Amino acid sequence: MRRPPLAIWQPAYIGLGSNLQEPNAQVRRACAGLQALACTRLVRVSPLYRSKPFGPVPQPDFTNAVAGILTQLDARTLLGELQALERALGRPAERERWGPRVIDLDLLVYGRERREEPGLTLPHSGIVERNFVLYPLADLAPELDVPGLGRVAELRGRVTPEGLERLGEP
Ligand code: ADP
Ligand code: MG
Repeated sequence: MRRPPLAIWQPAYIGLGSNLQEPNAQVRRACAGLQALACTRLVRVSPLYRSKPFGPVPQPDFTNAVAGILTQLDARTLLGELQALERALGRPAERERWGPRVIDLDLLVYGRERREEPGLTLPHSGIVERNFVLYPLADLAPELDVPGLGRVAELRGRVTPEGLERLGEP
C-alpha cells in the first residue's frame, strides 16, 4: 500500500453513498476521512442528494454526494485508501452486491485514466446510468470530460432525475 507519492497532483472524483445508520452523517464522516487522506486535498463536496434504491433488495433510501479531490496517490493506492476508509466507517468486508451499506466509496474518475483491470475499472462502470452520480458530479464539474464517455453536463442530460431529491449543501 505504501507507495511513494506521484510527483504530480491528479484530479479525481469520488462517489459517496450510504443508506444505513444516519446516511447524511455517514457521508459527512466519509468526507472528513477524505480530508484526512495522506498526499491528498479535498477540494469540494457536492450538495447531498437522496435517492431511491434500485435493484432486487428492498432497502432504505440512499444519501449520495460526489467529492472532488487532488491527489498524489496513484489510482490503485487511492482505491486502497477508499476501501480502508469504508472499513473504518464500519462497512463489513463481506459485501452484498445490491444490499444496503453504511458507506460506499467509488472512484469515479481519476485524471485521464482509462483502465479495465481486476478490481479497478476507470472511469467507474456505473457512471452513465446513475443519476445519483451524474447530478452531483455536474454540480461540481459540468465541463469535465469523462475519459471515453463525454462531458458531464451532456451525460446528465441523458438521465432523468427520477427518484432523486436534492437535500442541499453538505
Ligand atoms: P458497488 O460500488 O458497485 O455497489 P462494491 O462497492 O461492493 O459495489 O464493489 C466494490 C468492488 O468494485 C471492489 O472489488 C472494487 O475493487 C471494484 N471496483 C472496480 N472499479 C472500481 C472503482 N473505480 N471504484 C471503486 N471500486 C471499484
Ligand atoms: Mg463501491
